[in-house]
Amino acid sequence: MNLDPTHDPRLTSWIGSANDPGCDFPIQNLPFGIFRRRGTPEAPRAAVAIGDQVLELGAAGALAGFSGEAAKAADAGRAAKLNALAALGREYWHPLRLALSRALAANAPADVREALEGCLVPLKEAELLLPVEIPDYTDFYTSLHHATNIGRLFRPDNPLMPNFKWIPIGYHGRASSVVVSGSEIVRPRGQTRAPDAAHPAFGPCKRLDYEVELGFVCGPGNPLGTPVRIANALERVFGVVLLNDWSARDIQAWEYQPLGPFLAKSFATTLSPWVVTLDALEPYRVHSLRRPPDDPAPLPYLSDSDDRDEGGFSIEVEMYLRTAGMRDIAMPPVRLSHANYRDTYWTLAQLVTHHTSNGCNLRTGDLLGSGTISGAAADSAGAMIELTQNGKHSIKLPGGETRTFIEDGDELVQRGRCSRDGFATIGFGEAAGLVLPSLK
Ligand code: MN
Repeated sequence: MNLDPTHDPRLTSWIGSANDPGCDFPIQNLPFGIFRRRGTPEAPRAAVAIGDQVLELGAAGALAGFSGEAAKAADAGRAAKLNALAALGREYWHPLRLALSRALAANAPADVREALEGCLVPLKEAELLLPVEIPDYTDFYTSLHHATNIGRLFRPDNPLMPNFKWIPIGYHGRASSVVVSGSEIVRPRGQTRAPDAAHPAFGPCKRLDYEVELGFVCGPGNPLGTPVRIANALERVFGVVLLNDWSARDIQAWEYQPLGPFLAKSFATTLSPWVVTLDALEPYRVHSLRRPPDDPAPLPYLSDSDDRDEGGFSIEVEMYLRTAGMRDIAMPPVRLSHANYRDTYWTLAQLVTHHTSNGCNLRTGDLLGSGTISGAAADSAGAMIELTQNGKHSIKLPGGETRTFIEDGDELVQRGRCSRDGFATIGFGEAAGLVLPSLK
C-alpha cells in the first residue's frame, strides 16, 4: 500500500457534510466527474465530489493557488470530459490529490477556504454527465463463481470452459451506448428463438437482466505494438466506476455462438458518474484471489509477486431493485445482489496486461469491464439469470410482487463502497437506470 496523508482516517473537511458517517464522498475519496448546473446551458467541466457538494476543479486550482503538476492537472479539468486529466498520468494525479486534500481539509488556510467556497455547487443542483469520452469498451469475464453458475445452467456436467483458469476471457463491447446513471433504458427488441419453436422471431426482449460490474477507466495509453508489463499495468488505470452491463438473455442465447455477445449487450451499459481514483483505493488493496492448489499458476506474463500480494481491491458492490409498484407505495428499494470485487479470479493488472499482450493499444478513456461480480454465496450472484436459475425460480419481493427477469418500470440501482478497519469508508455514488417499454 502506498499510503500518504490523504488517506489519514482522522482527516476532516471544512465542508461539514463530508464528515457525516456513511457519506460516500469524505475527504479521503475525492473522485472526479463532469457536471454542469442542472437546467442551464453551461459548458460541462470537471468537478470533485466532496460531501453533498461538487467542487469545480479548474476554477479551484486557479483560485487556491495550486502550482506545478497540481495546477496543470486542475487546469485539465476545464475540458468537457476527464480524458485530458486521465491522459496526464500518476505524476500529475497524485500532486493534484495532495493539493485538493490540503485545500479541503478542516485546517486549510482561511484564504484558500474563502476562495474555494465560490467553486462549490450543491450536488443536488448538479447535472452529472458521462465522465469520459470512451474510445473503446472491453468487457471481461473474471468471476469464477459467475462463470461456473452460468456454465452449470447450460452444461451441468462441465460448467467451466477449459480456458477460464488460464486466460482472462473478454469480448469487445460497444462504447457508443455507454450511458451515465439516470439515463432511461429502453427495453431492446431482437431476434430470439424459444426452446420449443421451429423458427426464431423478432420482438421485445423477454429476459432482460443486469450484471453487477466495475468499470476501469484507462489513463495514459500504450503505443500500438508495445505490451504493458504486469508490474506497470496499474499506471495505465485512471480510476474505477460502477458498471451495469444490461443484458438481453433471450437475444444472447440465440446469437452468441460462435462469436460471443453482440446485440444482447450493445443496447446500453450504465456507469456511475464519479471516477474513484486508484490513489483513493490504496487502503483497500488486498492480495489477489488465492488459487486452490490444483489450479494452474498464471503464465509468466500474467504473474507478479506484487500483484499476488496486493493486486486485489476490496470493493463491495450491490444491486437494488425498485419496481413501479414499490414506488407507488413508497417502499424502499430491495437488494438483489451483493458481492466483493476481491473475489474475482483475475486481477485488474492481469486484465490490462492480457489486453495489451498481443500489442493492442489501449487509449485514454478506454473502458474495461470487470465482468459480472458474483461470490460463492447464493445471494451474492451478480445477475438475475443466476439468482433465478435462468428464470426457473422467481424472486419474491417485499411488496408481494415476484420477478424472474426485469420488467418495464423497474429501476435498478447499483452501489459500491470500500471499508477497512482503521480507514475511512468511501463510496462510489450510484449507477441507476429505469427500464422503459420497448419501442413499437
Ligand atoms: Mn458483462
